[in-house]
Amino acid sequence: MPATRQLIDQLTDRLGRSQVLTDTDIVASYVHDEAEWAPYSAPLAVARATRPGDERETVRWALEHHVPLVARGAGTGLSGGANSIAGCVVVSLAKMDAVLEVNPLERIAVVQPGVVNDRLRETVAEQGLWYPPDPASSPWSTIGGNVATNAGGVCCVKYGVTRDYVIGLEVVTGTGEVVRLGRRTAKGVAGLDLAALYVGSEGTLGIVTEVTVKLRPLPDPGRTVLGYFDNIVDAGVAVRDVAARGLTPSALEIVDRICLEAVDEMTGMGLASEANVVLIGKVDEPGEAGVRAARQMMAAFEAGAATFVAETADAEEADAMMAARRLAYPAMERKGPLLTEDIVVAKEHVPEMLRRIEQISQDVGITIASVAHAGDGNLHPLMVAGRDNEDERERAQAAFDRIIHECLDLGGTVTGEHGVGLLKMPGAARELGPQIMAMQRAVKAALDPQGIFNPGKVF
Ligand SMILES: Cc1cc2nc3c(=O)[nH]c(=O)nc-3n(C[C@H](O)[C@H](O)[C@H](O)COP(=O)(O)OP(=O)(O)OC[C@H]3O[C@@H](n4cnc5c(N)ncnc54)[C@H](O)[C@@H]3O)c2cc1C
Repeated sequence: MPATRQLIDQLTDRLGRSQVLTDTDIVASYVHDEAEWAPYSAPLAVARATRPGDERETVRWALEHHVPLVARGAGTGLSGGANSIAGCVVVSLAKMDAVLEVNPLERIAVVQPGVVNDRLRETVAEQGLWYPPDPASSPWSTIGGNVATNAGGVCCVKYGVTRDYVIGLEVVTGTGEVVRLGRRTAKGVAGLDLAALYVGSEGTLGIVTEVTVKLRPLPDPGRTVLGYFDNIVDAGVAVRDVAARGLTPSALEIVDRICLEAVDEMTGMGLASEANVVLIGKVDEPGEAGVRAARQMMAAFEAGAATFVAETADAEEADAMMAARRLAYPAMERKGPLLTEDIVVAKEHVPEMLRRIEQISQDVGITIASVAHAGDGNLHPLMVAGRDNEDERERAQAAFDRIIHECLDLGGTVTGEHGVGLLKMPGAARELGPQIMAMQRAVKAALDPQGIFNPGKVF
């Protein structure tokens, strides 16, 4: 194997001098994602793809020299999936950010992987169209990262997650070939759905270089229902009651007092004085149907012993409430390294899971904050532990492991949208069992025979 310098020179010859970064200070901003607890090591270099074909050249170079590759979008991941591993090259797709096509007749868009989620949404909105998957990171995260993690978001409770919208992909595989998977037609069942397989594969099967998504017409702005609760279990009862009434909210989000206080500290919004726990629900049926749905949602909140319930059709007021929800995570991050769960339980178990999380917090002696895409049972308990406080970190880790245990006990899953990455590997192995893990590894070996893509993650 040539010396490192020679290796990097060969990559530079293929991509251009300014696109291969080795300066330690610059490389430092590419070595980990937002999961501050997940480990990472120094890469050989960062390769920035800037022209179509750069990804293929990088993969072929890596295959020749047996160098691992870690694909990276915006690095907003919450599981360590984009973390650099020793001796790898981080492949940054952020500059591949062209919206290639918006086709209103077919209601599809074709984009490069580095397009930021909000930019795609804004671009298609100009033509009255909507790309629904809306992770709370939508101002920063890329479509490539969203595809690789099968990102969810606020409106996914009604409209589905990224996989429900990706119909075609261009991918560089582990043999260095560039393939087009899926379709751009409304229907298509030719062969196995390999595009769907790549969605959620967390950079372990190849590099996604182009994405075709389907779009919907822009929805009605809808109505927002706000509920205040004394405790989070009551809010969980309201969430279960919303489902029991047969409602399909277009958002149903929990934010607790700890998160509200953090948002207040960051923005001065003054939310925490009002409530211990806030439940924000949206319905977007037009006209009378929307009025009826909002009324039923209010009744469900009251059934959960809400201390205050109000409804608004004022878009600005509704946006302010949702903005607080979206800011909860960045606001909490200011308090110290966060250990973030991403569990999902069936809607009937939401109150019980929330009760068990409270119990774990008391038993382990660690504060656990909560935000949740509660409408689909996707809970994000957050634990803050100081970098240098070993005891606190151990307790946070113990709470993390117990939450996963309780979630699996209730028939849930360890990750609803953030992916396995590094943080959830033990939990995913427990959830899936040895037989399914072996099937997953067999798929990985078939598509990445040299094991160059994100080794040591997920499986
Ligand atoms: C404030 C905040 C709020 C968040 N809210 C949500 C939420 O509501 N819902 C949600 O699902 N997530 C959420 N996340 C997590 C994160 O934003 C998502 O996982 C997002 O999809 C990651 O996109 P990214 O561009 O940052 O990808 P990165 O973090 O750079 O990478 C994520 C994974 O994708 C792989 N990858 C990236 N690009 C490619 C590519 N082109 N080809 C192959 N593999 C690739 C990486 O190797 C890695 O495994 C949130 C994060 C933050 C910080």
